[in-house]
Amino acid sequence: MRIEAEPKLDFDDVLIRPKRSRLKSRAEVDVSRTFRMPHAGVEVTGVPVIAANMDTVGTLKMAAALAEYDIFTALHKHIPLEDMKAADISGAFSFVTFGIDDITKIDNVMNTLGSNSINKICLDVANGYTEYFLDFIKRVRDHHPGKVIMAGNVATPDMTEALILAGADIVKVGIGPGSACMTRAMTGIGYPQISAIIECADAAHGLSGFICADGGCKMPGDVSKAFAAGADFVMLGGMFAGHTETLNEEQLAALAENDNQIEYYGMSSEVAMNKYAGGMAKHRASEGRVVRIDYKGDVAHTVQEILGGLRSACTYVGASRLKEFSKRATFVIKK
Ligand code: 5GP
Repeated sequence: MRIEAEPKLDFDDVLIRPKRSRLKSRAEVDVSRTFRMPHAGVEVTGVPVIAANMDTVGTLKMAAALAEYDIFTALHKHIPLEDMKAADISGAFSFVTFGIDDITKIDNVMNTLGSNSINKICLDVANGYTEYFLDFIKRVRDHHPGKVIMAGNVATPDMTEALILAGADIVKVGIGPGSACMTRAMTGIGYPQISAIIECADAAHGLSGFICADGGCKMPGDVSKAFAAGADFVMLGGMFAGHTETLNEEQLAALAENDNQIEYYGMSSEVAMNKYAGGMAKHRASEGRVVRIDYKGDVAHTVQEILGGLRSACTYVGASRLKEFSKRATFVIKK
């Protein structure tokens, strides 16, 4: 057994130090970015926040609403192809999610959605550390050389590099920080998220790739901390859950009798397994929890809070563009 004794940091361990600035107002801050994808060779432009590929978050209605703000959505993997094809969603801001799937299924879905200009793939597995997953990324890259591939999750620089070298443009970083996640409790596995972001961003940028910090943001200040740590994209589950855009007619009608609350659950929770996998397999234990959260109304208000908080954070360190934010930011450790 080896111990890494260097302290590792989480969201609650740090604050961003204020610095002198020439900016007069947060209105001057540009929170959009343009990235050139290292493998796909295309540019991606937008506000680099992504709604998580969970069925309580990454819905078609959410994608339509967030695209109004140039914000991205990773559509959850249980949306029927016909619904995605028929939906009025912007290809510029949508990722289509797969697990380790049959490659012909991925080819079929992406070729069908090509006519909706959707060119972004999210390959999502709980444990991105297997050789099998690396081989799978290589296969998807071979079949789709011009598509943007975001893949994960991992939490360490060695594996961030491996995923990029295998063909990922963006690596999804986060093992265990999610608000509906039980991985740390059930397995003891994890890595404090701010340190994971700092270390994985450094590794990805060295190979001209990008990272998406996934999980653990509970409030707008956490989104700012993730960007300050070097995240190129930040994925949000719980913060985007509970909005009108994530609920069907039945759930909306039942709000009053449920004390205005809804269920937000992990995609490997028993609720999700019962819904999509015909129950929990005997060899598994649930690594996702079910939390009840208050209904929050339309997502517009939350978007304004997140982007307002981010603009203000940029102003506090004198960054007129989000791109400069992490270069200007310094963390102070709280204790
Ligand atoms: P949040 O923003 O709610 O803190 O975290 C969202 C992230 O939690 C998702 O994008 C995903 O990476 C992770 N997640 C979602 N469902 C589960 C689950 O059932 N188990 C685990 N370990 N992580 C989950």
